[in-house]
Amino acid sequence: MNAPSAPHTGLPRIVILGAGFAGHTAALHLSRLVRSKANVTVIAPRNRFTWFPSLIWVGTGTMSAEKVWFPLAPVYEKLGFDYIDGRAESIRPDERVVDIRRADGSEEHLAYDYLVNATGPYLNFEGTPGLGPKEGTTQSVCSIEHALGARDAYLENVAQLKKGARRRFVIGVGHPGATCQGAAFEYIMNVDADLRRRGLRDRAELVWLSNEPAAGDFGVDGVEARIDGKIVTGSTVIDELFKEREIQPILAAGVTGVGKDGIAYDRVGFDPATLEYDFAMLIP
Ligand SMILES: Cc1cc2nc3c(=O)[nH]c(=O)nc-3n(C[C@H](O)[C@H](O)[C@H](O)COP(=O)(O)OP(=O)(O)OC[C@H]3O[C@@H](n4cnc5c(N)ncnc54)[C@H](O)[C@@H]3O)c2cc1C
Repeated sequence: MNAPSAPHTGLPRIVILGAGFAGHTAALHLSRLVRSKANVTVIAPRNRFTWFPSLIWVGTGTMSAEKVWFPLAPVYEKLGFDYIDGRAESIRPDERVVDIRRADGSEEHLAYDYLVNATGPYLNFEGTPGLGPKEGTTQSVCSIEHALGARDAYLENVAQLKKGARRRFVIGVGHPGATCQGAAFEYIMNVDADLRRRGLRDRAELVWLSNEPAAGDFGVDGVEARIDGKIVTGSTVIDELFKEREIQPILAAGVTGVGKDGIAYDRVGFDPATLEYDFAMLIP
């Protein structure tokens, strides 16, 4: 078994895996709480913090990728924390050691007293055959690279619309158990707004394909607001919005597979169906 790479300085050793919203927030709190009273090391690949919510703009070409990230190393240097551009490959809790692969390929074995594991969600494209930009034929906005790919595919379809063709855009989630419907919803509203701005909306069909039991569920059992003393449900608002924007919802749909010819999905009480598409952005 590999021994820790660095000697113990005596101060508590706090290791943070991941520098997304969770890991970076933990680091910022620690800078306030323990700054010089602990050795803090943050490990995350690619030396960048990504502001995920803005990827919905990158995916339509309305925002450049440069605007949604910043380099982490200077921030941690300022805080007096160590930053390692690399990935945790395994955690050995009994020995309190994390095995790391640095960006240059070298290995490191880091001992810790406290570990914050904030490596984020796993994007399970393999859960649905044919899903995703790498092995499949659908787009995603779950990383900068994915959003840039979605942008290119989207703009190709925009070019076809400009030539007078009709196009079907299917946006939603790509697995019966997928979550993060909110991001897909924001993206379809963006696509709708962008196509209207370009004067192309009348030739585009927009389909919302989601496993939510009702519109506006967003994977959190919906939301409610009190407006003028009355309770208004998210489903009422989103149903109306879809009608107003001419977005066709297909709800309670579990996507089972994607091919070049169509997206296969099941709905309770209905026969399995396949939906043809020109552009699909489905969150895993
Ligand atoms: C397009 C889009 C829009 C969204 N909009 C919203 C919104 O408006 N509001 C909202 O609340 N949420 C939104 N979300 C969801 C939100 O982005 C996530 O919930 C959030 O990013 C999760 O934070 P996290 O820190 O747990 O994971 P992440 O942000 O994914 O961060 C994980 C970190 O771990 C690193 N990492 C991964 N593997 C390793 C490893 N092996 N070793 C070390 N580091 C590793 C990653 O590089 C990253 O730094 C959106 C998501 C998307 C995709």
